[in-house]
Amino acid sequence: MSGIEALTKVSERRIRKDPVALSPRPNLLDYEAERSRFDWADAWKLLDGLPGGRGCNIAHEAVDRHATGALADKIAIRWIGKTGARRDLTYSDLCRETNRFANALAGLGVTPGERVYVLMGRLPELYVAVLGTLKARCVASPLFSAFGPEPIATRIGIGEGRVLVTTPELYRRKVESVREKMPSLEHVILVGDGVAEGPGLHRWSVLVDGASADCEIGPTGAEDMALLHFTSGTTGRPKGAIHVHGAVVAHHVTGFYALDLHKDDIFWCTADPGWVTGTSYGILAPLTNGVTSIVLEAEFDAQTWYSTLERERVTVWYTAPTAIRMMMRLGAQAAKSYDLSALRFAASVGEPLNPEAVVWGLEAFGLPFHDNWWQTETGGIMIANLAALDIKPGSMGVPLPGIEAAILRHKDGRNVEVIDEPMIEGELALKRGWPSMMRGYLNEEERYAKCFVGDWYLTGDLARRDEDGYYWFVGRADDVIKSAGHLIGPFEVESALMEHPAVAEAGVIGKPDPTIGEIVKAFVALKPGREPSEQLRKELHGHARKRLGPAVAPKEIDFCANLPKTRSGKIMRRLLKARELGLPEGDLSTLESNET
Ligand code: ATP
Ligand code: MG
Repeated sequence: MSGIEALTKVSERRIRKDPVALSPRPNLLDYEAERSRFDWADAWKLLDGLPGGRGCNIAHEAVDRHATGALADKIAIRWIGKTGARRDLTYSDLCRETNRFANALAGLGVTPGERVYVLMGRLPELYVAVLGTLKARCVASPLFSAFGPEPIATRIGIGEGRVLVTTPELYRRKVESVREKMPSLEHVILVGDGVAEGPGLHRWSVLVDGASADCEIGPTGAEDMALLHFTSGTTGRPKGAIHVHGAVVAHHVTGFYALDLHKDDIFWCTADPGWVTGTSYGILAPLTNGVTSIVLEAEFDAQTWYSTLERERVTVWYTAPTAIRMMMRLGAQAAKSYDLSALRFAASVGEPLNPEAVVWGLEAFGLPFHDNWWQTETGGIMIANLAALDIKPGSMGVPLPGIEAAILRHKDGRNVEVIDEPMIEGELALKRGWPSMMRGYLNEEERYAKCFVGDWYLTGDLARRDEDGYYWFVGRADDVIKSAGHLIGPFEVESALMEHPAVAEAGVIGKPDPTIGEIVKAFVALKPGREPSEQLRKELHGHARKRLGPAVAPKEIDFCANLPKTRSGKIMRRLLKARELGLPEGDLSTLESNET
């Protein structure tokens, strides 16, 4: 790959780039200059605003302004169904379909500000419903389709959802039994064939397909609520983060800078819109940037993913560590048997990305993965490894232009101080004021207020900043291990274990110990063909001690077939810990069902 000099030894901790040699030229070529020049007020000029000065609406920026301009006939969304069916929606198709949906809502008497939930697999109607909801100035809340009845009822209850868009099958299996727990839910719009019975049911094919394809978006304020997103529930009960229409400027700019979207890109974000990544980057950012997005209905399967990358000539790929680690289990050779020559930029989010995985990208695709960091609460990417900058494998990268990050030390009570020295651990914080910052946790004002000290938003993650301004994830504040006076981040231990050729995944926790506070305990899942044995356990202990030193290396290592994960793919360390200690397991609404 031109411009990237592969330093494949993890210990060298750097993948060098020559940005001028990269093709196409990275959008963010001169990081320092852009950072000092950047101003969110100027960034608004990249967008249109509603015609006639009627404010700002996400759906206008994502769809309508392209549908009435040069991109009208360009494919906005290329949908690939589970059975191989395909459907292309151009920007003008998407405009018409979303107009119909907005008109259908209005026809039901649903008014701006009311909540519309979407519960379905990655079908084209999901995308139309979310964008149509925004057009109607209602609030869109996409739910992951694998949720069971209780998590669905809780989330619809929190947001007092008035409308739900789902399929007859999902309605029968997951909604019918809890319908009486959702008194606010008046209308259910059913996508596709199939039978379902209940009050207020409507067929999409009648209600939406029969609605007018003309719609003018009404006046929308940048501070009007647009999206309600529930967090992944990795650390506890999920929170409903409120986002506003004005967030669109951050979706746009971060897609341009951190994912390096260029107008001819074929972009594939593998996340489901039930999680914030699947909405901010699976729907909104690629559309505002006018690119073509791939939507794959099928769930993860390495061969299907490789053939999708190959067949669709994907150029920019945004995925997650769990998927990357699953691909790694099969070895780089599996990737090499596909023609992935169109791919030019690969990025990852959601969990710490082990240095091993970043470097594996070079081996398998000739491209490193660019890790980036953000949260449901931040609405968009905040810290990223950038196309034009060197990558330090294991680091989350640098704050984007317009984002001020810091590492804070907590003093007494609610006082904090900024840590200026490099490589000191503290809480990662962001200065308020970027447009996609959440405006609240719905109905949980106290929880929201606790996230701020003065102008700082506290992320709940611990990190360090190095002398070059790169941020390094240490662990979630809740997961950090205190052992014999050391603070140990599970990520560091997990990454060291991952370097061993037998290890596919590792989850590390602190286990209470009367003498040293906590001992480090690791749970390890092995690669195919490797069996647990005492010999291997000893080998892993030895490997970890060599890599980490005896104070940080795990004292106990257990083998397991799979690690418990959230449905958004994150290792649930709190659950490993609760199970180890025989404590209550807490909120499991987002637990993936196939863990053992
Ligand atoms: P909850 O807040 O309900 O416990 P969650 O924090 O997992 O769930 P999300 O908003 O989906 O919900 O995830 C954001 C969190 O994911 C971050 O705070 C961080 O802990 C982790 N994360 C995301 N990206 C990265 C990354 N690149 N490196 C390390 N951690 C990351
Ligand atoms: Mg969180």
